[in-house]
Amino acid sequence: MKRALITGITGQDGSYLAEFLLEKGYRVYGLVRRSSVGNLERIKHLEKDLRLIPGDLTDQNSLIAALVEARPDEVYNLAAQSFVGVSWQQPVLTAQVTALGVTRMLEAIRTVNPRIRFYQASSSEMFGRAQETPQSEKTPFYPRSPYGVAKVYGHYITVNYRESYGLFACSGILFNHESPRRGLEFVTRKVSDGVARIKLGLAGELRLGNLDSRRDWGYAGDYVQAMWLMLQQDEPDDYVIATGETHSVRELVEIAFSHAGLDWQKYVVVDPRLYRPAEVDLLQGDYSKARSKLGWEPRVSFPELVRMMVDADLARWEKILRQGVPEDTVREKGKP
Ligand code: NDP
Repeated sequence: MKRALITGITGQDGSYLAEFLLEKGYRVYGLVRRSSVGNLERIKHLEKDLRLIPGDLTDQNSLIAALVEARPDEVYNLAAQSFVGVSWQQPVLTAQVTALGVTRMLEAIRTVNPRIRFYQASSSEMFGRAQETPQSEKTPFYPRSPYGVAKVYGHYITVNYRESYGLFACSGILFNHESPRRGLEFVTRKVSDGVARIKLGLAGELRLGNLDSRRDWGYAGDYVQAMWLMLQQDEPDDYVIATGETHSVRELVEIAFSHAGLDWQKYVVVDPRLYRPAEVDLLQGDYSKARSKLGWEPRVSFPELVRMMVDADLARWEKILRQGVPEDTVREKGKP
């Protein structure tokens, strides 16, 4: 039985990857940081199958202890301060976790067992002010946020440990991927949640930033398969994972509202305060290397993804309402 340790198992990707690896027959361990409010929501359906180990990417000893306990064949480093917006407010924390956290885990692997295969969750945000379109593994990086800068560090230290110490270390450069488990602060989820609340009379408007921003959005469930495939190859390497298509926030909004039978123009308010201090350029991934070497393809289309997210948020809010949550805790102040 193969063994895997996932950092960031309580996040969107961690929960899908845990399901995927369990289905493949892995024994799955997850590094979980302590939270006073509980952070296990996304993995509570897997509780009896997972082994959770307390730890934090900012704490070197906890990483070594986790590797000693889990004895993994594969480590998937998904943990990060992963929200671009917050990285301007907490740039030092972002660097501690998202950048230096990678070195801490690589050092732990080198210390405990250098044969462990390592996956690093890199990001299309590393391309930022894109030097060419579409972006491939060969496109130079030009990050446009403290998050992007931290991810560039994480990418290069992964490559460097592969080259310096011969570790089986791979960097997956993943473009945006979404799901009903996406954090509520990300625009796709903000839209699906907003549409559901408007449809059910719990909100009267949805405030968004730049509607013309375009992204290459895929489905998280498809992308975790690519992470696993990278670690099953004969040689470690880096791969872009994307859909190759871009869509604007406006298109996202149109599909989401019309799926709920609503006219978006009546509800969406553009709020310039929600614009990013520095926007990235057109991010569109060229995943031809992953297609040819890994045999990987995205399966869920953009409209299917948006509809899946709206349906899930509608079901979630309907359940909350059925359970009799007092209305004033969910209704936005002053809104019908
Ligand atoms: P999430 O924000 O959903 O999950 C982040 C995870 O990291 C959570 O489990 C969180 O734990 C954990 N974490 C945060 N800080 C620490 C820390 N100091 N020590 C240990 N764990 C910590 O992210 P996603 O699942 O969406 O993304 C997974 C990875 O992929 C991230 O590294 C992200 O930056 C990267 N990525 C994501 C993309 C996307 O579109 N989703 C695109 C490209 C890259 P807790 O639950 O306690 O907060």
